[in-house]
Amino acid sequence: MSRRKPLIGITGIIGSGKSTAANLFRKLGAAVFDADQIAREITKQADVLQQIRQTFGDEVIDKNGNLNRQKMAAKVFSHPELLKKLNGIIHPRVRRQMWRFVEKMQQDQAVKMILIDSPLIYETDLHRFPDKIVVVSASTENCISRVMKRNGMTRDAILRRMEQQIQLSEKRNRADFVIENDGDLNRLAGQVKNVFKNILQQWR
Ligand code: ADP
Repeated sequence: MSRRKPLIGITGIIGSGKSTAANLFRKLGAAVFDADQIAREITKQADVLQQIRQTFGDEVIDKNGNLNRQKMAAKVFSHPELLKKLNGIIHPRVRRQMWRFVEKMQQDQAVKMILIDSPLIYETDLHRFPDKIVVVSASTENCISRVMKRNGMTRDAILRRMEQQIQLSEKRNRADFVIENDGDLNRLAGQVKNVFKNILQQWR
């Protein structure tokens, strides 16, 4: 049996660059669980779609039977109680897949650490599980302009999503490592390398 590998949470606020940082960790030998991507896949499952339809009505399902993400986002990000309901459907399933991933990666010789990439680590009590948490931090203006460029979301929509997340200042205070991402991608890569090395050194 090989020794358990570090389980690391990586988070931030929307647009801070946590997925970009997670990809840099991956290049160094981390296995990354992308919670947002898994959540998107989960909303394609027939039983989940059925539950969503029952809870939110036909208007959030398009004519092909898929989730209309824009309509759903408009609903939940202006009504916190609806966001809670949606999370109640999605999060337990994400959590189950996460543990399966962690178990599998613990056995993989090539993996040096396991990263859980989620914007909601502190919001959904996921922070209880990792050995260390990395927060990727950037100014609100940088976050907004990066997301607008990434997928054309409006400034208002981004701000509404940010309002549902715990403030970056609090996340920074609670983090084990803070990565500053107001510089270029080289600066980000340098910090990721340092944090990666640091975690493995502390782990020995
Ligand atoms: P998050 O996962 O935190 O929402 P992403 O990692 O997807 O954020 O980054 C948001 C966008 O900003 C992406 O298009 C990414 O390529 C870009 N980005 C991230 N960090 C930087 C940086 N340091 N310089 C320039 N663009 C960046």
